[in-house]
Amino acid sequence: MSSRAYVGLGANVGADLSSTLAQATRALAALPGTRLAGLSSAWRSAPVDAGGPDFLNAVAALDTTLQPLELLDALQAIEQAHGRERPYRNAPRTLDLDLLLYDDLVLDSPRLTLPHPRLGQRAFVLRPLLEIAPELARLAMGDDWRAQRIERLGPLPP
Ligand code: ATP
Ligand code: CA
Ligand code: CA
Repeated sequence: MSSRAYVGLGANVGADLSSTLAQATRALAALPGTRLAGLSSAWRSAPVDAGGPDFLNAVAALDTTLQPLELLDALQAIEQAHGRERPYRNAPRTLDLDLLLYDDLVLDSPRLTLPHPRLGQRAFVLRPLLEIAPELARLAMGDDWRAQRIERLGPLPP
């Protein structure tokens, strides 16, 4: 019995952000017990609560038998493989993988909060997420996210 997880991908450091996200997507699809069930377009967004270059964002839908913390471990290992460092909060990053949703699980533990707590206020999450899962529109909170600068680019490279 597999679960449906949604993963937010973001990057704003590196020579080729779309190939970073494409590689990360392949790594997600290759996780044990996991199938890529959907992938949004690539979206270019302005950094929120931070300076630095624009981000490239996407959201992937996964069907997985991994448990939530196993999936978080896997996401962090993929981030590490892309040279992710955490020098300070909201620092520019080579790759950020956030677990947005895991079925309808609600969890508040030291390492993992579900749904991702800021999901409903971020255009760079909501636009790609609702592109592939429009039935989740109820997760949007308020209207502030509608004013955030974001642009749909097109499909990620294969
Ligand atoms: P934000 O969470 O606001 O998007 P961020 O992605 O920059 O910020 P990170 O430095 O990547 O934050 O992660 C900080 C910690 O958040 C991680 O060590 C992880 O344990 C924790 N965390 C809690 N809930 C989640 C979640 N749903 N997805 C990913 N990480 C989470
Ligand atoms: Ca994040
Ligand atoms: Ca993160």
